[in-house]
Amino acid sequence: MLTKKQIVEKLHELGLKTGDKVLLHSSTVSLGEVEGGPQTVLDAFLEVLGTSGTLLVPIFGRLGILTDLVRDDPRAVKSPCPVGTVAAIGADAEALCHDHWTAETAHGVGTPFHRLGEMGGYVCLLGVDQDRNTLLHGIEAMLQLPYLNSTTRTFTLPDGKEVTKEFKYYPGPHRNFIGLDHRLRADGALKELRIGNAEVRLMAAAELWRLGMEWGKEDPAFVLCDNPACADCVKQHAAIARDSFAKESFRLAMSSRLAGRYVPEMIENLQACGIDLVELDYIQGKSAAQYPAEKLASFVQEFQSSGIVVSAMRLNYVPDDPTPVVEAMQPAHVSTLILPLVGSLEKWLDAEKSAGITLEFANTALGGAAFSAQLKALPAPHKAHFNPVNFVKAGEMPFLRSYGTGRFIRTMTSLDVNDALWNGTPRRLAQGNAEIKELVSIVRCRNFNGTLVLGGGAPCATDARQFCQDFRNILETI
Ligand SMILES: [Zn+2]
Repeated sequence: MLTKKQIVEKLHELGLKTGDKVLLHSSTVSLGEVEGGPQTVLDAFLEVLGTSGTLLVPIFGRLGILTDLVRDDPRAVKSPCPVGTVAAIGADAEALCHDHWTAETAHGVGTPFHRLGEMGGYVCLLGVDQDRNTLLHGIEAMLQLPYLNSTTRTFTLPDGKEVTKEFKYYPGPHRNFIGLDHRLRADGALKELRIGNAEVRLMAAAELWRLGMEWGKEDPAFVLCDNPACADCVKQHAAIARDSFAKESFRLAMSSRLAGRYVPEMIENLQACGIDLVELDYIQGKSAAQYPAEKLASFVQEFQSSGIVVSAMRLNYVPDDPTPVVEAMQPAHVSTLILPLVGSLEKWLDAEKSAGITLEFANTALGGAAFSAQLKALPAPHKAHFNPVNFVKAGEMPFLRSYGTGRFIRTMTSLDVNDALWNGTPRRLAQGNAEIKELVSIVRCRNFNGTLVLGGGAPCATDARQFCQDFRNILETI
């Protein structure tokens, strides 16, 4: 059975001393049998910290017995805030807790969690893991991570005044805080020992803030899990992706063939990737042009009701008769049609004028110079879709040769993001001959404001999510 004296000795061994300020997260049952129960644990902490020290406990979420004891202690000061509330006993209780509600966020600057770092305090985890470390929410808030939301609360201030206030960058559902332990250990920021049966960890709050900010700036997903079955983190990763895409000059779309087979699957994948535009090429293995008007309109509606816009329809052949295609596009409100630049296009150019649609053309079996010449020979100017995989299949190096000879700087409205070997075999991005990394880099340098279409105009070597991850890796490494 543990005694107060033994606990005090262990806390000293952990490095705690008179005058320290400690934010404690605990599960006292994990200690095993303690003489006098949780009150003895509380007394041990207060003895070690002395009258000049301060003990804080969060009093929201999952509470423990020790938390209840601190909260109900007549000496305790409670931080006046409906979110991220803490109770504190000791010399700096007021200094740490005052005006908590006036902070912009629940856990960031101006809250007890941030003040603890500024005042040289510590975070102690007693028999619980990093998952319970509230200070980490402050780091997320300070980083203004894109997946955080705000929360609005109406509450009563100590002086009786009622206030309604929005707290920004409020934490959401799942976090992989436990994944930080090994990194903290590697950085020497974690003191660990065992008291009874409980693992006890101590971290300097300022050091935790410093490392967390550093890691989060490097990787905004640093506390998210990678489990594809964790719906919360899939959504949170998507928010980070969407935020990073929004910083680019180009618009980002995905071909429906890459997005999935059925529309609900496509929507799920597009949402998980943080992409809001879809280019309709194939649906359920069939060309979008083969669907009757009603069916096409219902597909488009299905996307729209999930916040996804159809950017264009795309065919990999030129049907003899434009009428059924054009008549299906109109009620579906799809106004742009991408066709390969082959054969006789007269009927299509006529239909474009009379039906009020816009035609755009993609390169097929020609090299850059020949494709551009053909495009220029059309009776009216038209925009080009640069498909690097087709240039590869035509035996040309897309970046070094096609891009330059085709003067695409003026005509290009869209770049298909895809990759393949010379023989046409699909490859993962930047693992084939399409020079896709160079192409993405060059359009970025000129602040290209057209569309990049993931998986556009060719079959892909991977599924939508892997593809999108590969694309993000390209953006991050150029
Ligand atoms: Zn998760």
